[in-house]
Amino acid sequence: MTSKISLVSLGCPRNLTDSQAIAERLKLKGAKITEDSQEADTIIINTCAFIKEAKEESIDFILDAVELKKEGRIKKIILAGCLAQRYPEEILKEFKEIDAIVGRQELTDSVNNLSLTPKHYSYLKICEGCFNECSFCVIPKIKGKFKSRSVGSVLEEARLLDKRGISELNIIGQDITCFGLDSAAKGRLSYLISRILEEAENIKWVRLLYLNPLRLDNDLIELIWENERICKYIDLPIQHINDRILKLMNRQITKSKIHSLIKRLRKEIPEVAIRTSVITGFPSETESEFKELIDFITEVKFDRLGAFVYSREEGTAAYDFPNQVPESVKRKRFSILMQKQQEIAKDYNASLLGKTKEVMIEEYNDGVYAARSQADAPEVDGCVFVKSKEKLFAGDIVKVKITQTYEYDLVGEKIPS
Ligand code: SF4
Repeated sequence: MTSKISLVSLGCPRNLTDSQAIAERLKLKGAKITEDSQEADTIIINTCAFIKEAKEESIDFILDAVELKKEGRIKKIILAGCLAQRYPEEILKEFKEIDAIVGRQELTDSVNNLSLTPKHYSYLKICEGCFNECSFCVIPKIKGKFKSRSVGSVLEEARLLDKRGISELNIIGQDITCFGLDSAAKGRLSYLISRILEEAENIKWVRLLYLNPLRLDNDLIELIWENERICKYIDLPIQHINDRILKLMNRQITKSKIHSLIKRLRKEIPEVAIRTSVITGFPSETESEFKELIDFITEVKFDRLGAFVYSREEGTAAYDFPNQVPESVKRKRFSILMQKQQEIAKDYNASLLGKTKEVMIEEYNDGVYAARSQADAPEVDGCVFVKSKEKLFAGDIVKVKITQTYEYDLVGEKIPS
């Protein structure tokens, strides 16, 4: 009898591509993947362990699955992903109902036919692991040393996604700027992106995610600027801006280097939207160092910003750092920072009123289309709601005139073609 499998994918897009590879292998073995866990006989949970909240979410899903198994409604529970990889013994000891923990090594290089993203966009993971050793981050311990995929296997997957008719391709990895550093293979990231643009010529938008400011080089900046199919969107996690904290984080970069890079990007790539992510409450962060971070985001005005409360992770260098910041202070700084960013986002959006924006249609709901501009990455950024007399389809790229603006979202009228 065909196994009916429900696959839960938690955490980041990189985990999502692993989930797709897991699903692909199961399908090749004749299993049926079902969205509805009620009709499944097996539940696979691809877990995340990046920070405390992510671990708690993974545990919640495990507990739900354990409950379903105790009630006899499912036969098997299989775990994959970062939490499972990080604590296999503890998990199997704690949850006797779990049947297996699957690794990921063999997951990466497979070209997949099954997508867990909507039909009009997809993620393409080009590397695994990380060279960097940021003192707060557990990922290198879970995912191992940086490893580029072969150019051939990346292009094979890009061609397949192109044939499938996606409109947007999101290039991901822990730090994609390291691509090619580990292999004698020809070229670095800019070379690979040029090849993808050649081989997947129907894909309208190529978006680069997780660009480490340390290695964002001239070739890549030039390529992004000169090629209109590459989204004018730079995802540039800085984590902090104070030099003492950057040093303790082992980010290997300084405030002035980050600042001049941002100025250069805005000068050389007009209309570029810069996204960043920062951490509040890193061990020994003082009030004045936090204020320096607030002053910096106020001055630079990132178009998009995500923030994390520092999460003390075992096995990371920062776990043993002195002067850990109290939880309440970390959270207070987080909300002050997000409050400031909300004001910046609101002003930025207000400046777009009456302007024309190119957007990609995602779906139709209650009389309007949800869409994204090049400044909006899937699942993390804002949305453009589009009113149109014409029927539109997911993946269509259309021009709209912005008629209303909110903190994070916009409303627009489709401009007749
Ligand atoms: S660059 Fe730093 S934060 Fe990002 S995955 Fe690597 S070690 Fe972690």
